[in-house]
Amino acid sequence: MHIGNRLTPDTPVSELYGVGKIRAEKLYKIGICTVRDLIYYFPRGYENRGDVRLLGEYDTEYSHSYILTVATEVTSAKLRGNLTISKFRAFDESGSCDIVFFNSAFVKDIFHVGSTFRFYGRIAFSKSRRITLTAPKYEPVIEGVALDEFLPIYPLTEGITSKFLDGLIKKAINDVLPFLIDPMPEDVRLENDLLTLSEAIRQIHFPLDNDKLVSAIKRLAFDELLYFALGVTLRSKDREFIEGVRFTPCSLKPFTDIFPFELTNSQKDVINDIYRDTVIKKVDGITPSMARIVVGDVGSGKTLCAEAAMYIAHMSGYQSALMAPTEILAEQHYNDIKGHFESLGIKVELLVGSISQTKKKKIYSAVQNGDVDIIVGTHAILSDKLVFNNLGMIITDEQHRFGVRQRAILKDRVKNAHMLVMSATPIPRSLALALYGDLDISRIQEMPKGRMKVDTYVVTEEYRTRLNAFIKKQVELGGQCYIVCPSIEGDNDELRGEHILSEEGLSKSGTLPLKNVKDYTEELKAALPSLRIDSLNGKMKSEEKDEVMRKFSSRETDVLVCTTVIEVGVNVPNASLMVVENAERFGLSQLHQLRGRVGRGTRKSYCVLVSDIKSEKATSRLEIMKTTYDGYEIADKDLVLRGPGDFFYSYSDDNIRQSGGFEFRFASLSRDYELMKTAFSTAKAIVSLDPELKKAENKALGDEIKRLLTPSSTIS
Ligand code: ADP
Ligand code: MG
Repeated sequence: MHIGNRLTPDTPVSELYGVGKIRAEKLYKIGICTVRDLIYYFPRGYENRGDVRLLGEYDTEYSHSYILTVATEVTSAKLRGNLTISKFRAFDESGSCDIVFFNSAFVKDIFHVGSTFRFYGRIAFSKSRRITLTAPKYEPVIEGVALDEFLPIYPLTEGITSKFLDGLIKKAINDVLPFLIDPMPEDVRLENDLLTLSEAIRQIHFPLDNDKLVSAIKRLAFDELLYFALGVTLRSKDREFIEGVRFTPCSLKPFTDIFPFELTNSQKDVINDIYRDTVIKKVDGITPSMARIVVGDVGSGKTLCAEAAMYIAHMSGYQSALMAPTEILAEQHYNDIKGHFESLGIKVELLVGSISQTKKKKIYSAVQNGDVDIIVGTHAILSDKLVFNNLGMIITDEQHRFGVRQRAILKDRVKNAHMLVMSATPIPRSLALALYGDLDISRIQEMPKGRMKVDTYVVTEEYRTRLNAFIKKQVELGGQCYIVCPSIEGDNDELRGEHILSEEGLSKSGTLPLKNVKDYTEELKAALPSLRIDSLNGKMKSEEKDEVMRKFSSRETDVLVCTTVIEVGVNVPNASLMVVENAERFGLSQLHQLRGRVGRGTRKSYCVLVSDIKSEKATSRLEIMKTTYDGYEIADKDLVLRGPGDFFYSYSDDNIRQSGGFEFRFASLSRDYELMKTAFSTAKAIVSLDPELKKAENKALGDEIKRLLTPSSTIS
């Protein structure tokens, strides 16, 4: 037990008053081990009790405050079972209502005729149609005593009540905050008009008002972005010192001769970049290991660039590994690559989870003996049973969601191997730094000649019947159809109706009805009984997903209803129609990616964007898709219209989190773009003057980054 002594951030919670062994364990479970964890245990929302309504303006959907005067004494009655109901009436100038509590007979000593309270709850109708507040929260209204406007709502766990947690947090805040060291250099803080760390933490727990809350969010968001930016900046500096294998000069003619077409200029540029990095480049007498990303639109021919890299590695006597995020994709790559390289005597093998142990063992030994030149696979490649003979090139096809961590695992094992990443989204230059600050970037600007345009339409719900007929017709013509929905099943957002943090500080969480995969699949099956309809979503096991995709690729399915999982670069050249439901919910770049799934073969292909949103902004955004087919142009327009969110969403925050112990609870990568730019320029400035963060004014900052980059000791 903690008696007398002041708390420090490192005091274990088990030493706090009132925290016994059992509660301490429950707190551990929600990640609270120390007092520091307590002050960083932020609310997931707030009750906006300052938002007082009159009964005349009651709302049956959301909770509000009502300031009411008690009109009758409390009467209690026993109901069936052990239930006791206590009831009284209360009023304001606009009307009156019943207030009801269950099994709380003590309330008769609290509520007396004539006294006034601030009640907080959701109005409902009783059986006799009287407006009623059931078990509202309440605070006495006392002349001259201000009531808090916002009350924090903490994520709880069984056995930890909000009252208990509130108390602990208040105590921690009062004891620790005055002595908390702010790692942010003072000049950076002032320049960006930010609260001190202590003030921000206090306001995030117990905000004085909305303005203060917004300032607190801004400060904490900036912290996250600055630490992230510093992590990326420091890491990209580190990278310069890793030595890579040096490949020998070779002619690429035998390689380019494989293809029946001319390489685009962009492809030539990318291959030159790779050649320069691995064969020519010398810094202080060594060849630094390549860490390069190839960014290019869907269908721009990135695979060929990766193959060139593997070819150069092979000609120098090194093996290559190519990792794809799914088995299907790995198989597709394997078949393509094998087809191209076989004639050159280059041996390619496939390694995925589903192949037999015997086969795997064979592959392991072949790779170890150097009998395999190129291994293509999923994360099965990361198995430590796979030992390379001489790995020289690591390639990952991220098509969005492959983990930064996965690629780092191989790289860690074979430090001097070169690394090439392929990314399917044309990222605007301005964002690339934040996403891939630690990689050099090659861009494919130009598409191979002779691509067919995918005709794009924007329609409303009124077209549903015609749309269904169109789907049927496409299938009858021998094509296949994708239908993408924004959600998997019916909406059950737990924060619904609460005030959640958003750019304006607080806002109500949304309640727009969305098409979901589960229901829509059933609807469509009923509407088009003659078609073979299947569904796919990101929550399915990967074997299930692969099976559904396999069936679709082999034309055993006509229509695939899915979430954006299909974005992950699967090639079904027979697909001729892409329908996107609630298209307004998607970023343009994402729509562009989706559209890129069709028109890959010889069939005339179509993209139909369904949206019932009438706002001019939403409509004009979708209209862009009808006229623009260039991924970069779309990406730029999207950035202007929506902010960088789409890029980050599609790369998923997880990937970014995986770049270290960085977590974004306050910064929204989708809206804090300006803040992010500032964070990166600040980080750069700091690091250029003090590369190891050793100066006095940066020491706390350096410690903080180190702490974030060290695996956390807290139990998760
Ligand atoms: P992505 O960049 O989306 O990964 P791929 O590498 O899968 O694109 O290439 C898409 C298709 O374009 C493939 O069928 C490939 O053979 C073809 N392709 C690649 N480069 C060219 C080119 N220079 N000219 C014509 N077709 C090309
Ligand atoms: Mg590809």
